[in-house]
Amino acid sequence: MEEKIKFDDLGLSEATLSGIRKKGFEEPSPIQAKTIPYLLQGEKNIIGQAQTGTGKTAAFGLPLIDKLEPDTGHVQALILAPTRELAVQVCEEINSLKGSKRLQIAPIYGGQSYGEQFRRLKRGVDIIVGTPGRIQDHIDKGSLNLSKLSWLILDEADEMLNMGFVEDIEKILESVNEDKRMVLFSATMPKAILNIAGRYMGDYEVLAVKKQQLTTNLTEQIYYELSERDKFEALCRIIDIEDDFYGIVFCRTKVRSDEVAERLINRGYSSAALHGDISQNMRERILSQFKEKKTNILVATDVAARGIDVTNMTHVINYSLPQDPESYVHRIGRTGRAGQEGTAITFVTHSEYRMLVRIQRMSNTDIKKKTLPGVKDVIHIKRERIITELSETIQGNLEKVNESYDSMAKTLLEQGNPEQVVASLLKYSFKQDLDESQYKEIKNIKMNRDGSRTRLFVAKGRKDNMSARDVVSLIKEKTGIPDSRIDDVQVFEMFSFITVSFDDAEHIIDVFRKAGRGHRPMVEKAKPSDNNRRRGPSDGRPRGAGNRQGGHFYHSERKRGNNKRSR
Ligand code: AMP
Repeated sequence: MEEKIKFDDLGLSEATLSGIRKKGFEEPSPIQAKTIPYLLQGEKNIIGQAQTGTGKTAAFGLPLIDKLEPDTGHVQALILAPTRELAVQVCEEINSLKGSKRLQIAPIYGGQSYGEQFRRLKRGVDIIVGTPGRIQDHIDKGSLNLSKLSWLILDEADEMLNMGFVEDIEKILESVNEDKRMVLFSATMPKAILNIAGRYMGDYEVLAVKKQQLTTNLTEQIYYELSERDKFEALCRIIDIEDDFYGIVFCRTKVRSDEVAERLINRGYSSAALHGDISQNMRERILSQFKEKKTNILVATDVAARGIDVTNMTHVINYSLPQDPESYVHRIGRTGRAGQEGTAITFVTHSEYRMLVRIQRMSNTDIKKKTLPGVKDVIHIKRERIITELSETIQGNLEKVNESYDSMAKTLLEQGNPEQVVASLLKYSFKQDLDESQYKEIKNIKMNRDGSRTRLFVAKGRKDNMSARDVVSLIKEKTGIPDSRIDDVQVFEMFSFITVSFDDAEHIIDVFRKAGRGHRPMVEKAKPSDNNRRRGPSDGRPRGAGNRQGGHFYHSERKRGNNKRSR
């Protein structure tokens, strides 16, 4: 088994380690292993290159928890994040890791009432996680004093720049105290990021995690979109429709794997949890039972599953997504080996969607979206299976003498006609198994794909007699992408902007690159600097399609119908 860095090796205090244990993390993710020791000991500012889903929040959150003391009477750390969702997520993550430390952490974002935020700030906060526009507003109003910061963290800095926050960020950076430590996390390193670093971060170090070349095997890969609380129900349905489910259910934490295994056992399945807290003896016992198929569902963390040499599994289930594409490939490599058919199933919630897109892109695999089987489908499949199995049993027994059973059968057949008798025997044996009410409803979710939306620059504007409608028609005509997937169109004198999903953006860019034949393509990813160019009057209003995301931060804070950001 390859040697991995442990949380104990990073220099964190016992109190923080106990918070991590409570949360159930087993080992640091690569970006955590790299940045935590650095932030605990060094003095330098850092830039961390990491994407969402890699554990970057804990990478900066744990050192904050470790180093900050409560009750100082001033804000000690400011974390800037591009969207309301991310701000809330970061707050929740840090809160869930802080253990018994009494640090006050608050999200401050656009769209929420000022009154509530004034009150929260007055009560005293140690760590603020905020969106740049709203933080700048509080500074202007005098309701937020950031003159005694120990830490300033820019999370998803490239996203913030893409969203046009560069001026707000610069203003904030200029108005806070100089003697703080800065951390900047960004998935990509465009020049604009390095400019900010050059101007405001002085002496800094770049920490990145090496990427590996990834290949996947021929396993069938499927994903289901669902909410976190429906995952267990979905798991049961998947197991139930299989004739002989034999596989590993991967969870990210020990706590979760214990919980899932226990719930499976309570529901009558043969399951066991495998994670880092399980003793070596116990581990061996669990593994040998799994190999002998006495237990057919192993619920494991990545750490614990390392070194398991079972290869004939029918399924690998990603109950939660792993922290990087490498682990995904590693996980699913356990099924479908040696010519055997295998299926890899991934559960994807709103917050995991971006990681899924990354995994698809980096591992260059096609993970197909499917719909979960409905309760009626599951029951139907179970019925068919019972009929098949019983038919085989009946066939196998016809020629044999079954004396003791024959006399029982005679007695029973005297109770009614054969159909009634067999029906009541079936009911007696399978009532529970075929009862629809054992399955709970699974809610259909509308996936929030905004996290992976991309702003595109189109080199056509009013000078070319283009209206917003013309821009959409042009894109549709050249790429086949329907109007409904093109949002937030803005037309300026020389150029325009549109917003589309990450996947559509890739396709559009590709089509126009090919059409451009070596010349500058007509459509490109909007650059942060484009945000500054577009400050002129706009005749393009965000189109109705934008309303479909009503209430989403991107529109509430950034809607530019009047070319002014509402905060
Ligand atoms: P982030 O990249 O910070 O958005 O984290 C993505 C998810 O990974 C969150 O649900 C975290 O709770 C989880 N996570 C972060 N670090 C670890 C770790 N070391 N082990 C297991 N899960 C983790």
